[in-house]
Amino acid sequence: MQFIDLKTQYQQLKPAIDERIQRVLDHGQYIMGPEIAELEERLAAYVGSRHCISVASGTDALLIAMMALGIKAGDEIITTPFTFIATGEMIALLGAIPVFVDIDPRTYNLVPELVEGAITSRTRAIMPVSLYGQCAEFDAINAIGARHGVAVIEDAAQSFGATYKGRRSCALSTIGCSSFFPSKPLGCYGDGGACFTDDDELAKLMREIRVHGQDRRYHHPVIGTNGRLDTLQAAVLLGKLDTFADEVAARERLGARYSALIGERCAGVIAPYIEPHNTSVYAQYTVQVDDRDAVLEAMREHGVPTAVHYPVPLHRQPAFAGLGLGAGAFPVAEAAADRVMSLPMHPFLTDADQILVVDALVAATRKA
Ligand SMILES: *Cc1c(COP(=O)(O)O)cnc(C)c1O
Repeated sequence: MQFIDLKTQYQQLKPAIDERIQRVLDHGQYIMGPEIAELEERLAAYVGSRHCISVASGTDALLIAMMALGIKAGDEIITTPFTFIATGEMIALLGAIPVFVDIDPRTYNLVPELVEGAITSRTRAIMPVSLYGQCAEFDAINAIGARHGVAVIEDAAQSFGATYKGRRSCALSTIGCSSFFPSKPLGCYGDGGACFTDDDELAKLMREIRVHGQDRRYHHPVIGTNGRLDTLQAAVLLGKLDTFADEVAARERLGARYSALIGERCAGVIAPYIEPHNTSVYAQYTVQVDDRDAVLEAMREHGVPTAVHYPVPLHRQPAFAGLGLGAGAFPVAEAAADRVMSLPMHPFLTDADQILVVDALVAATRKA
């Protein structure tokens, strides 16, 4: 059994993906070829955003979004400590300061009231992460952003395809940033990402920043980077887009089925809580267990792959030691980091495999 099965997906989509890749090999426009604009149009239409700017990774999407907003050294960005390193890392890379606030214990996403409490005169943006594939509380967070005149950047690396009150992730705030890393809900075959916005001026800036701040060839009004998506990766994504809606539906069905099975059979295991106004794409299907190390080991013995997203909150990472935030600073995030465990999850997970996973979980949590 695989944690995320990319091979089955490729076997099913092989004709479409191969044909798309071959077209690029035939025309040879590997940088900013015609697939880039085609992909951006389709992704913008899918999420319901005016603009899509494809970029080289989810990490670059966050960096380019903040550069376009003019985030600079000393600025404060309010975000969650319970996320992948890239979220806080790109803030720090610009010399800005990640101001962490604690998370909701049920959704693992930012608590709007705590965000509001962390606003200062130096706050320039709020960066909620839509963790595990479920959107953060955007109405409340956008209202705080509007009240204080600061932008809201969604780290939607795990939530492409999810909805919040019927609207799609990536189109919920000033800028939405997603990742097409292979194992994300919409993945390419290498690194990739995208920024989404309704703001024409920000879109123009992000387009320039991803190509060395260039507005026309060899003219550079702003400082940028090399942050383009490869044409070949755009081709892979185009080859996958026609069936993406089916994959999202499969993820929702499998996520709900996991939760039903776990609710029936695993007394001490806490299944994901999805807000009634949200749909999750379950980038990770993540549960909480007591005595996690023993459970992880027992799962391994049963041949079921698991992962921990994430074992160390950002404020406890050595890279952020300079912030001086010790153990106990964000108790909810720290407790989650000690207890979470992700189960195999992908659209091609069979019902039989899902039973095997839950059987293993029943045995592992009984033993632990
Ligand atoms: C994966 C991920 C990123 C980074 O995306 P890459 O494409 O790997 O650079 C950023 N934030 C979160 C929450 C992620 O899960």
